[in-house]
Amino acid sequence: MTQRPFNFSAGPAVLPEEVLQTAAADMLNWQGSGMSVMEMSHRGAEFISIYEKAERDLRALLAVPANYQILFMQGGGIAENAIVPLNLSRGGAVDFVLTGSWTEKSYKEAGKYAKAHIAASGKDSGYTQIPAMASWQLSKDAAYLHICSNETIDGIEYQELPDLKALGASAQTELVIDCSSHIASRSIDWSRVGLAFAGAQKNLGPSGLTIVVVREDLIGRALDICPSAFNYELVAKNQSMYNTPPTWGIYIAGLVFDWILRQQEGGLQGLAAVEARNMRKAAKLYAYLDGSSFYSNKVAPQARSRMNVPFFLADESRNADFLAGAKARGLLQLKGHKSVGGMRASIYNAMPEQGVDALIAYLQEFEKTSA
Ligand SMILES: *Cc1c(COP(=O)(O)O)cnc(C)c1O
Repeated sequence: MTQRPFNFSAGPAVLPEEVLQTAAADMLNWQGSGMSVMEMSHRGAEFISIYEKAERDLRALLAVPANYQILFMQGGGIAENAIVPLNLSRGGAVDFVLTGSWTEKSYKEAGKYAKAHIAASGKDSGYTQIPAMASWQLSKDAAYLHICSNETIDGIEYQELPDLKALGASAQTELVIDCSSHIASRSIDWSRVGLAFAGAQKNLGPSGLTIVVVREDLIGRALDICPSAFNYELVAKNQSMYNTPPTWGIYIAGLVFDWILRQQEGGLQGLAAVEARNMRKAAKLYAYLDGSSFYSNKVAPQARSRMNVPFFLADESRNADFLAGAKARGLLQLKGHKSVGGMRASIYNAMPEQGVDALIAYLQEFEKTSA
């Protein structure tokens, strides 16, 4: 098989080649069933086995405690911006820490259903750092504090989740994390989290599937106006089958979970192996960018994302040449988000280290020809 190009898209994004091959081999006839997974009833024994394995594997790989439910929903991260306040806010106060485009969106949407309040904002820094936790102005009675643990567009990542108790938050305030673009790239400290959500299309599978992990005692507080399909209580009671779940997305994500669990790296296994590889990939890319005067990354080093690396050429008139040269070398989708400009390399779990090496070699080559 010839080498596929390296795909640096922010999402929908690269998937492990092995997963695509398995899906292709299974396409017309999944494990002798005579059916494609797309053609199966979600209530049949075949699909139930796919669903149960996916749930079990995700729980194992993220070490999700038994008192948290895993829900497979639809609507993506943007729908959760409404679904979370509909389910958790009781129409009262909810806090946000703004660190970039995604938290801005989440804050605006929550305001339709709850009393949304900005506890801190990194906007003055041009979203290049996370506001110091000690400076966060938490509401006394907030149902939750929402953060985006990895801002996909701005390239900012929390290296540690806030400990709300230590920050003096009220006992009823839960931490909600939008972890869409780094779920399954590192471990999650569940003792600090009430609810986590993630669209699948960054690190887990195709778009159309949203993963919600929610502590059981937070289920059952939805506002009356909450649509049934988005009511965590109904979804949980029906094992994510109150409505037809995104069966194809669950199947592919399940293959990705299985792939993660089998990864090995220097004596590490599963998520720990993937995390070690992610740290190495990101470290070498940032080291190259920092060491060059031709490229720059503006994010404060301690807030830099391991998954999404925005960067700029010193001479922006060369952006189009850079992208054309990259494409010719099989380095795809490096154009930055329009709100930030420049370039962005998304180096999710499924981006092989070789892909990062090839990108660095090209950065070097392009820099030389631009001197
Ligand atoms: C991509 C993304 C979303 C939105 O996902 P949709 O599937 O388009 O709704 C939300 N939050 C973050 C952090 C994202 O990266």
